[in-house]
Amino acid sequence: MNLWMDKALEEAEKSLKRGEVPVGCLFIFDNQVIASGSNTVNETKNATRHAELNCIDDVLTFCKEKNLNHKEVFRNIDVVVTVEPCIMCASALHQLEIRSIVYGCANDRFGGCQSVFDVSKVHESKLNVTGDVKSEEAMQLLKDFYKGSNPNAPEAKKGRKKKVDNE
Ligand SMILES: [Zn+2]
Repeated sequence: MNLWMDKALEEAEKSLKRGEVPVGCLFIFDNQVIASGSNTVNETKNATRHAELNCIDDVLTFCKEKNLNHKEVFRNIDVVVTVEPCIMCASALHQLEIRSIVYGCANDRFGGCQSVFDVSKVHESKLNVTGDVKSEEAMQLLKDFYKGSNPNAPEAKKGRKKKVDNE
């Protein structure tokens, strides 16, 4: 799983360079990455465009192209994401009955896998969740972003209003 997490961290780094909250995500199906991405919240001005939701859209495109049953595919997907999914995303992953989630650092503000709320309490699906995989690297990227050390992170520089989504 560490190798996958390295790849997810690369996505998060790319996202940091684009001035987005650095969260990277991979969706793995049949031992291959069928979707990868990061936040596009600032770029799209859409606060729901988290890495996980962007990947979900990509999986649907993948299924259409390959003529696969998306429900079946989602049930066999392992999600690797650098930060604990927020309540919104964790809930979406449960609705889709994803097989497992592996995340890096905890999300103390919005975490939906335990930190703030455990969404599995309101969903019937039981998926495997593993946290704290390379969490320090993931956390460092977030710190870099909120420090505003990146010239492409104007939102963070303006004094981290609560508008800046932490995931
Ligand atoms: Zn999210």
